[in-house]
Amino acid sequence: VNEFAASADDVVDAHAHFMPPDLPDLASLNADHRWPLLIPDADGSSGRVMRGDSLFRVVRPACWDVGARIAELDQVGIGHQVISPIPVILTYWADPDRALEYCRHINDWLAHAVRQSGGRLSGLGTVPLQDTSRAISEMTRAVRELGLSGLEIGTEVNGMELDHDELRPFFRAADRLDVPLFVHATDGNCATRVAGEQVAFGLGMLTDIALAAAAFVFGGVLRECPNLRVCLSHGGGSFAWCFSRLNLFGKISGAAPSSPTPEELCRRLFVDSLVFDSDHMRQLVHRFGAGQIVIGSDHPFLSTDPAPQAIVDDAWSRGIITAEERTAIRSGNVSRFVTLQTAGPTDESPRVVNPP
Ligand SMILES: [Zn+2]
Repeated sequence: VNEFAASADDVVDAHAHFMPPDLPDLASLNADHRWPLLIPDADGSSGRVMRGDSLFRVVRPACWDVGARIAELDQVGIGHQVISPIPVILTYWADPDRALEYCRHINDWLAHAVRQSGGRLSGLGTVPLQDTSRAISEMTRAVRELGLSGLEIGTEVNGMELDHDELRPFFRAADRLDVPLFVHATDGNCATRVAGEQVAFGLGMLTDIALAAAAFVFGGVLRECPNLRVCLSHGGGSFAWCFSRLNLFGKISGAAPSSPTPEELCRRLFVDSLVFDSDHMRQLVHRFGAGQIVIGSDHPFLSTDPAPQAIVDDAWSRGIITAEERTAIRSGNVSRFVTLQTAGPTDESPRVVNPP
């Protein structure tokens, strides 16, 4: 339990993104257009995320400017935000040495942004998962030296699902070092057979994160790592709805171990509230438990109108959750997933309340 003083009205947002504006231009340096670069426009009103010469996305200043971000949080009543890399900068496809260099830039910038925020932001860093030994050493540096609160990881690594044997040393190290992992959907295009942005956004992303959930619950990762803390983006996607059938297969095939049960493993997973429908919230409560749900906004990419906590308030007003559960989802649950950082009393450097 940490000391972050969330009042009942404070909201902690656990799913929001940043991108540093000062990354090295690895696309030019390596003649490889896949390295993303953020270029703020001259007037500071927006920025362009580029991959080589092609525009990936236009972003608002809140994506890289801590002051602009906090002003937006104030507008929607978010007291504290846990920020993680925009998923396009998870470069698992790259050469491990260059990926490590890129990750170090990102994590250094993130630690600086957290310090600048006066206790309003906590940071989840990134590591080159394509090389577990580099990933473990950068994970260690990120939490021990930089004071970051945990890591964001993607849903697959160069074709390896998250329960792949090669990734197990990383998860065991995260378990041992007490580093929480926010797992973000990354590949909506490959998770369905139908191409197109709408299907990738609406079905692909939710399938992608559900595959990650299945790897943790049915693929053995949570069994092998008894204290590992994992939070799934987008409410875990379609996993909450598919769980019963996945579980049935284990029973039919006789492959399911009896203890802990898959139901119990589900209740170790955290999920965010980014599901856009309070009836879906009902299913999250049923499958994961109200104590495992945290606020997610996808700020600054999705609109904050309605505010990200509105779905929780709606679920409460419709009797899906109690007043106590509403408060826990808005601000309390997140502290069991991740150690939030607060501004130090005498300087503006972050104080890690419970160092790992
Ligand atoms: Zn996101």
